[in-house]
Amino acid sequence: APPAIVCLTPGAGSGKTTFMRRINSYLHSKNRPPYVINLDPAVLNVPFEANIDIRDSVNYEEVMKQYNLGPNGGILTSLNLFATKVDQIVNLLEKRARPTPAAAEPQKPDDSSSSTTSTDGKKAIDSILVDTPGQIEVFVWSASGTILLESLASSFPTVIAYIIDTPRTASTSTFMSNMLYACSILYKTKLPMILVFNKTDVKDAAFAKEWMTDFEAFQAALRRDEEGGGEDGGGGAPSHGGSGYMGSLLNSMSLMLEEFYSHLSVVGVSSRLGTGMEEFFDAVEEKRKEFLSDYLPELQRRR
Ligand code: GDP
Ligand code: MG
Repeated sequence: APPAIVCLTPGAGSGKTTFMRRINSYLHSKNRPPYVINLDPAVLNVPFEANIDIRDSVNYEEVMKQYNLGPNGGILTSLNLFATKVDQIVNLLEKRARPTPAAAEPQKPDDSSSSTTSTDGKKAIDSILVDTPGQIEVFVWSASGTILLESLASSFPTVIAYIIDTPRTASTSTFMSNMLYACSILYKTKLPMILVFNKTDVKDAAFAKEWMTDFEAFQAALRRDEEGGGEDGGGGAPSHGGSGYMGSLLNSMSLMLEEFYSHLSVVGVSSRLGTGMEEFFDAVEEKRKEFLSDYLPELQRRR
C-alpha cells in the first residue's frame, strides 16, 4: 500500500506550505504524482491541486456564522463535519491505490481535480500527501482529527512529517520545547515520525543532529546559552535562581528524549531550494516499513 504522509508543524511560518509544494513538485518531476488531501478548512489557497479538499464539502466561513464560532471553533466543527465522511474517503483512496485497467470511476469528493482525473485515473497512486490545519492542536487533540488519522492508518502506512523552522529552533530552550512537543505528538498519534528540519539554506541542521545524538554536545550548548542568553534573544523560560533550575530540568529532559530520538528519522531540507528531497523520501520509505513491522501490529491489537 502507498504511504500516507501527514504534514504537521508546531507553529505558523515553519514552512509547511512551502515544503508540501516542494515535495509535490518533486514527486511530479519523478513521474510519481501524489494524491493530495487538504484537511485545512481555513486555508485561503492551496498552492497545488488537492484531489480531496475539505473545503469542497465544508464551508468554514458558513460554519463559523451558522454556529456562532471563532476561528478555532470553526476549524474544529468543520473537521467534525468532514470526519463523518471518512469512510467514503478511505474507500475512495483504497480504490485509487489499486491498479485498475480502466480509468477509475468518477467520484464525488474527488472532482476538485476533474481536469487531471482522466490521466491520474489509470495509474494507481503511490503516495498520499495530507495537509492539516495550521492550528496543530485542533487536529492532533480533537476527536475528529484522531478519527481521520486512525482511519487513514487503518488502510495505509501513515507517517508524520513534523516540520521545524531550523533557524528559529537554534537555541537550546526552543529546541528542547520543540522536541518535547514532537514527543507528545508521537505519543498521541502513535505513528512513526520524521523530523524535517526546514530552511537549511538559512541555518544548517547539523547542530540539531549533533544535539540529538551527542548528549555532551547538548550539555555544552546548554552552558553556552545560559551564559549568553541564547541565540534567539534570551526568549527562553525565566531562570529560577541563576543557572540551576532550568539547567537541571533540561538535563533530565534530554535523558528522556534520548529514547524518543532513537525512534525518529531526522532530515534537513530547504523547501526554498529543494535540497534534501531524496533524503526525505528515503526516510518515508524507512518509516513505511517500520509502520508495517512495528506500528501496525500495535494498532491492530488496540482495535
Ligand atoms: P507555513 O505557515 O508553515 O505554511 O509556512 P510557509 O510555507 O507559508 O512559509 C513561511 C515563510 O517561510 C515564507 O516566507 C516562506 O517563503 C519561508 N520559507 C519556507 N521554507 C523555506 C526555506 O526552506 N528556506 C527559507 N529561507 N525560507 C523558507
Ligand atoms: Mg501554510
